[in-house]
Amino acid sequence: MTSIGFIGLGIMGAPMARNLVRAGFAVTGYDLNADAVAALAADDGKPAASIADAVRGADIVATMLPADQHVEAVVLGDDGVLAHLEPGALLIDFSTIRPETSQKIAEARTRVLDAPVSGGQQGAIDGVLSIMVGGARADFDAAKPVFDAVGKVAALVGPAGAGQFVKAANQLVVGGTYALVAEAILLMEASGVDAEAGLDVLAGGLAGSRILELKRASMLARDYTPGFRIDLHHKDMGIVLDAARQAEVALPFAFQVAAHVQAARAQGLGDRDHSGLLAVAERFSGREER
Ligand code: NAD
Repeated sequence: MTSIGFIGLGIMGAPMARNLVRAGFAVTGYDLNADAVAALAADDGKPAASIADAVRGADIVATMLPADQHVEAVVLGDDGVLAHLEPGALLIDFSTIRPETSQKIAEARTRVLDAPVSGGQQGAIDGVLSIMVGGARADFDAAKPVFDAVGKVAALVGPAGAGQFVKAANQLVVGGTYALVAEAILLMEASGVDAEAGLDVLAGGLAGSRILELKRASMLARDYTPGFRIDLHHKDMGIVLDAARQAEVALPFAFQVAAHVQAARAQGLGDRDHSGLLAVAERFSGREER
């Protein structure tokens, strides 16, 4: 049985680890939050008391952490993953971080994949994530059974860090779509039409999207329970803007989306779901928040 050490059992990591258990892997989980570790143990995973405990003896180590500083500390830090990883074991980092950080890890060790995901909490629960992978072909092939257990689509898109660039493109499209759906809702409501029926029509036509499919009801109800936190999307828009500057391409809409996400944070919505961009649109037009 292939053994996996899984570090970071949050909104995404917990259901991913659970799906790996269901697929027949022996999963040992670690998180700073003891309740998350206990929840995995109750679902036939094994609890770990430390990073070392999760990593020692594992064939594969997976990480799903919030941002660069967490990945740097957990993977590269003293007593971190690399200090305990078995020679020949594979490291898969599912976190969304800066491409430079993924490249730095790949320089410190071979057999490393950056594998950020898209599909949200529901996609993680259903095991249907899209996975964008940077690294070597042989490692990608070796990781395939893991990707099959947590995702629907996995693509190798280039060398170390490449997965993060594709994820940045993904976050640009997701953030931009939320901002536009928010304005569409505001326009319909302010015009006195049936916004719910209107969104149903939009969802079935060329304007349709996964966001309209999954989130239109919660947005109309102003339910911004995360989901994906505005704070994390703010981190991601920073990655998008840096990547654009590096690649010397001008992306005016990316700047616009980043400003909307920044405004949401400034308005105290950092812990809310990114569909909360609707509240920003409402305030921008001086309308009562609903
Ligand atoms: P989260 O905050 O819910 O989970 C992160 C987990 O990491 C937490 O349980 C936290 O306790 C743990 N953690 C932090 N530092 C740690 C440490 N030093 N040692 C052990 N555990 C530690 O975040 P999330 O929503 O699951 O997102 C994780 C990553 O996935 C982020 O990079 C995010 O951008 C990305 N992502 C999230 C979504 C989403 O919809 N939530 C979708 C796609 C990608």
